[in-house]
Amino acid sequence: MERILNYIGGSLVPPRSGRFLDNVNPATGQVYSHIPDSDASDVAEAVAAAQQAFPDWAAAVPEVRFRILNRIADLIEADLESFALAESNDNGKPLSVARSVDIPRAVSNFRFFATAAMQFASEAHPMPGQAVNYTLRQPLGTVGCISPWNLPLYLFTWKIAPALAAGNCVVGKPSELTPMTAFLLAKVCIEAGLPAGVLNIVHGLGPSAGQAIVEHPSVKAISFTGGTATGRHIAATAAPMFKKLSLELGGKNPSIVFADCDFEQAVSTAARSAFSNNGQICLCGSRIYVQKPIYEQFRDELVRRVSALRTGDPLAADSDLGALVSRSHWEKVQGYLALAKEEGGRILCGGELIRPEGRCSEGFFLSPAIIEGLDAQCRTNQEEIFGPVVTIQAFETEEEVLQWANGTDYGLAANVWTQDLSRAHRVAERLQMGIVWINCWMLRDLRTPFGGVKHSGIGREGGWEAIRFFTEPKNVCVKYGK
Ligand code: NAD
Repeated sequence: MERILNYIGGSLVPPRSGRFLDNVNPATGQVYSHIPDSDASDVAEAVAAAQQAFPDWAAAVPEVRFRILNRIADLIEADLESFALAESNDNGKPLSVARSVDIPRAVSNFRFFATAAMQFASEAHPMPGQAVNYTLRQPLGTVGCISPWNLPLYLFTWKIAPALAAGNCVVGKPSELTPMTAFLLAKVCIEAGLPAGVLNIVHGLGPSAGQAIVEHPSVKAISFTGGTATGRHIAATAAPMFKKLSLELGGKNPSIVFADCDFEQAVSTAARSAFSNNGQICLCGSRIYVQKPIYEQFRDELVRRVSALRTGDPLAADSDLGALVSRSHWEKVQGYLALAKEEGGRILCGGELIRPEGRCSEGFFLSPAIIEGLDAQCRTNQEEIFGPVVTIQAFETEEEVLQWANGTDYGLAANVWTQDLSRAHRVAERLQMGIVWINCWMLRDLRTPFGGVKHSGIGREGGWEAIRFFTEPKNVCVKYGK
């Protein structure tokens, strides 16, 4: 059985303890590889390698970083099929989705930030006749990048690429549930000629390997994407050490459909927004609010379309949805279905455990569920479920729906459907979210700031925001006047 290895100091190495963990394919329920159960000693070795590599990488002219990051992108693209299969086996998502969304986006991340390395410019503030100030933006040193399982390579590279482009060295940890694409990335980095120690990937569990990265005194910043509870713990650990923090956390995003919407676009995108990747995208719309005049028509059409989605073997070309990522997450989502019923919810469709024939009969499958009859304050509508379970509710006024939409601890994203231009801008301004989509969902320009407010996190990723995060600004004031 395949053994995943750590990538430290330019080499693929086993964990110092010799301990490995099982890596389960959620579609089959079977162990299909082993991953290092790394601890603080592996992290210390990775940090030492990064520290050693840092002076040369930081001093490299931008063209060097540009060329290597582009080469990494090219090599991932050339082997897209292996990356997509690894992602599907780890995560349970349809191979077609990994092939068309996740891996191409990881390629774009490297290309985008390769270019940023070449284009980055600093500010100058002249004081006429007296002095000139300029801002030197210098890399931080060794930084930690910790990512979740839902979009494994996409989110890992969304952190690593800007960190490297800005001249930092990285100690990264992918989710222990989805390590395989990061292992393939390590091999690609070796082939691309990335200097030893510039990127180090340590596999393992959050409380051991992840915690050791956050605690290491030489790691200057943590870029973390994951759950809100983990983010809170990381903040509590890192804040007293004055580390820079970017935390991209959970969401409970509303889809708001006004009666004057383009019905076809709204209903098809609401379905996609609710159930893409089985609802396991932080940006998924899991609370669907529909204005009264079109509520019944919209609900019935949504239920019809969602009932037609096929859940099954991720490798089958006709599967729209695959397996949930792990047994424990599958059970957690089932627990929320039971809670929704206890709270008085009616399941309009889905919520059934599915047992596909053949190799996937032991996998973690659940059909996509829509629940009606719950109010905005109940736990089902307040807590992040992060699975194929959404609620639908009718609203009357703009004021009412804004209160519901803003009435959770989270503030990541919303999608709003209306043809009224003034209302679109008004609602966007009042939504307490980091991202608002009007008449669309998941449309992303990589230059825009990405992130949430409230318990959805602090800091922003994307474009120059990411480069700024991974650099320290130093003001130099040069007096030339008398
Ligand atoms: P998680 O918080 O359990 O784990 C995320 C990562 O943190 C994993 O690599 C894990 O090993 C590591 N980790 C766990 N404990 C740690 C510790 N004490 N110190 C350091 N690292 C530790 O999250 P998950 O279940 O992998 O991912 C799902 C969550 O991620 C959801 O809440 C989802 O909303 C969120 N998410 C947010 C965004 C965003 O951009 N806001 C994007 C994707 C996912």
